[in-house]
Amino acid sequence: MQDPNCLFCKIIAGKIPSKKVYEDEHVYAFHDIAPWAPIHFLMVPKLHIPSMAQITPENSALMGHLLALAPKLALEQGCRPYPEGGYRIVTNTGAEGGQEVHHLHFHVMGGP
Ligand code: 5GP
Ligand code: ZN
Repeated sequence: MQDPNCLFCKIIAGKIPSKKVYEDEHVYAFHDIAPWAPIHFLMVPKLHIPSMAQITPENSALMGHLLALAPKLALEQGCRPYPEGGYRIVTNTGAEGGQEVHHLHFHVMGGP
């Protein structure tokens, strides 16, 4: 369920190097190559899903798993705890949503 032409599928497969934050059977997380914040990593499903626009109820468990991991990984990466600290979770969707890489990903950004 990978797209051979997809940048993030190549990263998940290890064909393009990345700085890994976390990996399990369904999710891969890695540092963004051009961070917008002191802490900035991306969380992606290993399944090639182009964007949030393709998400259906069948993906509910995967989305729940991925989003439930985000707070844990954010703290592990150095984001300070809520409410003084915190982070942003952003998913750009489509051209007018600012999406450049068409493999669903969640930006997790934080730090002072
Ligand atoms: P989008 O604009 O699609 O929401 O975000 C794509 C993100 O992927 C950008 O923040 C960009 O810096 C990041 N990115 C693009 N190419 C690479 C790469 O080869 N490696 C890593 N680690 N991040 C990348
Ligand atoms: Zn992909």
